[in-house]
Amino acid sequence: MTKALFTKPFTQQEAVPDEVIDRVVEILKTGRLHRYNTLSDELSEASLLERDYAEYQGSKYCIACTSGGYALTVALRSIGLKPGDKILANAYTLAPVPGAIYAAGGVLVFVDIDDDWHTDMVDLEKKAAESDAKFMMLSHMRGHIADMDAIVAICSKYDISLVEDCAHTMGAHWKGARSGNFGKVACFSAQTYKHINSGEGGLITTDDEEVAARAIVHTGSYMLYQRHGTPPSEEMFRRIRLDTPNMSGRIDNMRAALIRGQLSGLENNIQRWNSRYRTLEQGLMGSKHLHVPERAQHEAFVGSSIQFQVRNIESRNIPELVSRCAARGVEIKWFGDDEPKAFTSRYDSWQYLGEQPVLAKTMEVLSKTCDLRVPLTFDEADCSLIFQIICEEADLLADELRDAG
Ligand SMILES: *Cc1c(COP(=O)(O)O)cnc(C)c1O
Repeated sequence: MTKALFTKPFTQQEAVPDEVIDRVVEILKTGRLHRYNTLSDELSEASLLERDYAEYQGSKYCIACTSGGYALTVALRSIGLKPGDKILANAYTLAPVPGAIYAAGGVLVFVDIDDDWHTDMVDLEKKAAESDAKFMMLSHMRGHIADMDAIVAICSKYDISLVEDCAHTMGAHWKGARSGNFGKVACFSAQTYKHINSGEGGLITTDDEEVAARAIVHTGSYMLYQRHGTPPSEEMFRRIRLDTPNMSGRIDNMRAALIRGQLSGLENNIQRWNSRYRTLEQGLMGSKHLHVPERAQHEAFVGSSIQFQVRNIESRNIPELVSRCAARGVEIKWFGDDEPKAFTSRYDSWQYLGEQPVLAKTMEVLSKTCDLRVPLTFDEADCSLIFQIICEEADLLADELRDAG
């Protein structure tokens, strides 16, 4: 019997909608590409994006910038993190997060995760008490949203300012509130592999006027800070503008148009991601060697990727499973690899942070964690073929390993 092969690329996004392309071309034809290059009282596309995204998010302020990672650095500086300040962060995340913290001068205190990839609340409380950190960066990594009631309670008990990294939760909710509305400030990415694709792009949201004003000046407003979609008061700017460094990272009007134009399609895309996610989830659960943890009922997530845990196959044999699936066209990432690959790395890979204490639980959970992208260019039939291939290979490998004793 010949084995079925999957042939579509895991990195192919959908085309940008025609009406969005038309808007970008329209902007190109005006020649006014810089966000502060406006005619009289015209609002630039960047400002219109900020106004629209703040409305979508339900936040008072939105500041657009060059990337999600840059947004994180600006957010940290804007809430007052100074070089040498400690900051708590869940250890299951990706490289731009420790990088942003490092760029802002923060000293990382990693917090363990639990079996379902959420922040471990016992470890969080322990580290909050021991470290006396006044900041926390919470990555909703791969869209898994922790118990936000518990996070918010611990942050308030220890007087910790919370930054939410919503790179994977744009459009998601927890107990009916949008992800990003639980802390002092939230950051989003519009990089190609996230939920809106402008190539590169970042968004910062907050209800705090001072944080918003500082973020605007940090992103490179010169003294044109009032030309924003959701501007704080002149009085606030006058107070902070001269002690807030300009760290140029503005968005341009073309990228702003790409993000703004795709916002109206986001809810529909979330439905499309989630139906694919459910197909994969159900299918992967068909193998007794694979496990997809159940999502909390009140977690309205965006299934733009799916994670599963391998059971009954030792971690050292997972690379064999990954390569057998790859040979059939299915691209699985494994978070247990000691060697960082492509977009995937682990907290112990970031050597510039210095020696970190071993997080035993995180290492154990990640040693069996596999990850699949779910681009919207895959249809339901594609998802069925993908889970069939993974289940077949997992079952086969588990049998072989058992027979080999
Ligand atoms: C992609 C990503 C970011 C940063 O986004 P960029 O726009 O690529 O800088 C931050 N956090 C996580 C978890 C991400 O995956």
